[in-house]
Amino acid sequence: MTIVMKFGGTSVGSAERIRAVGDRVRERKDRRPVVVVSALSGITDLLIRGAHAALARDEAADAALQEVRERHDGVLRALVPEGPARDRLLVHLDEEINELRTLYTGVRYLGELTPRSLDAISGMGERLSFEIVAEALQAQGVPACAFDARQVLITDEGFGRALPLMEQSRERVERLLKPLIDQGRVPIVPGFIGATQDGITTTLGRGGSDWSAAILGALLPADEIQIWTDVDGIMTVDPRAVPGARVIPEVAFEEAAELAYFGAKVLHPATIKPAIEKGIPVFILNSLNPTAPGTRIAGRVPEGVAGEPRAIAFKKGITVVLISQPRMLMAHGFVARVFEVFDRHRTPVDLIATSEVSVSLTIDDAARLPAIQADLGNLGEVRVLSQMAIVSVVGRGFIRQPGLAGRIFQTLQDVNVVMISFGASDVNVSFVVSAADAEKAVRLLHREFFEGAQQPAERSARA
Ligand code: ASP
Ligand code: MG
Repeated sequence: MTIVMKFGGTSVGSAERIRAVGDRVRERKDRRPVVVVSALSGITDLLIRGAHAALARDEAADAALQEVRERHDGVLRALVPEGPARDRLLVHLDEEINELRTLYTGVRYLGELTPRSLDAISGMGERLSFEIVAEALQAQGVPACAFDARQVLITDEGFGRALPLMEQSRERVERLLKPLIDQGRVPIVPGFIGATQDGITTTLGRGGSDWSAAILGALLPADEIQIWTDVDGIMTVDPRAVPGARVIPEVAFEEAAELAYFGAKVLHPATIKPAIEKGIPVFILNSLNPTAPGTRIAGRVPEGVAGEPRAIAFKKGITVVLISQPRMLMAHGFVARVFEVFDRHRTPVDLIATSEVSVSLTIDDAARLPAIQADLGNLGEVRVLSQMAIVSVVGRGFIRQPGLAGRIFQTLQDVNVVMISFGASDVNVSFVVSAADAEKAVRLLHREFFEGAQQPAERSARA
């Protein structure tokens, strides 16, 4: 057995936080962990800002360089006692900073920042963090060893958002990573970065460390993947909107994907797909509150809890576009022509509702709205409602419950609902309300479905 434990930027953001990582890993030593780490919080942004500054021949590039050095220097001196290990790390830090300086200089002279150079630069945060974490954990008595992901995570050449080459990577994991685990070592692996077959550094895209963890987890394969972050898990609703929000103990992958659209930004579900496809459960855990049970994301809704809503989500800044055309009655091709306009303007449509003579739909990105409106004007009468919000009740299987629609409408009787999508998805029911009413609608629904006598979220915890 083996598990993958991934620690995000805030979980490795300071010496104190890295010590806590050591505690979490030591507690799980018997489960043969592989540890994936992000860059120290804020470092990736800083590296990228520095690159753009270098491109603009701005002094801020040197300041970025200096700040990157100081952050890591401070953390490593706090964690690694004086001696050969610390000296080696300090030399390594110097080397990496020099390489970064060379990269910035190249960008400045060439006046060009290619995706390939940007990957070399933005991946520097993980290249620094994993070595420090490995040494720090050793100082805490964990048999940790630094293991560069670029040895095993082989990707294509899609710099900036490279795709893993699973077969090549699998062979490397078998040959290079597994023997270490078998020897009782705890490999500390940088997230986010990989390498092409020719050894050129690539990155998996922003926030890519979760993906690294899932890829390695799928290749090993691990029995479990733990994503250690700074929240207690995926919540039933945004806690800033509803004080009664609680952690969802268990969600299906599709539900997590649905929630991510609404900005429940704990993780991007697409990144854990490699694990879900292999049936490996993924846990979201809080490194600041390690005894909290967290959220388990699995491929299927657990037995006995399907048919209950899992969360309420909402998103503001939505625009509703209504097109009506009395002659549409019985006409064919109308909806297709409407969609063709949105397609031409590369604007995704989220919800749609149609009647015999009209179509309403929502868009998230209104940048091209004036042009869209002009084109739609040729098809019928157009009305636009801005400052709207989509509210969704998410939960696989519950949609088919008898009486559900009535219960929702009853709950929202004092809210003006502009659009409803019901039946298109097995995972959510969505409504459009004005943005000013969004919190109210969300609070009412949350009270109805999550704060009542039955409290489905807690019931499923015991399932
Ligand atoms: N450090 C990278 C980023 O900030 C990757 C990650 O943290 O997942 O995007
Ligand atoms: Mg990060």
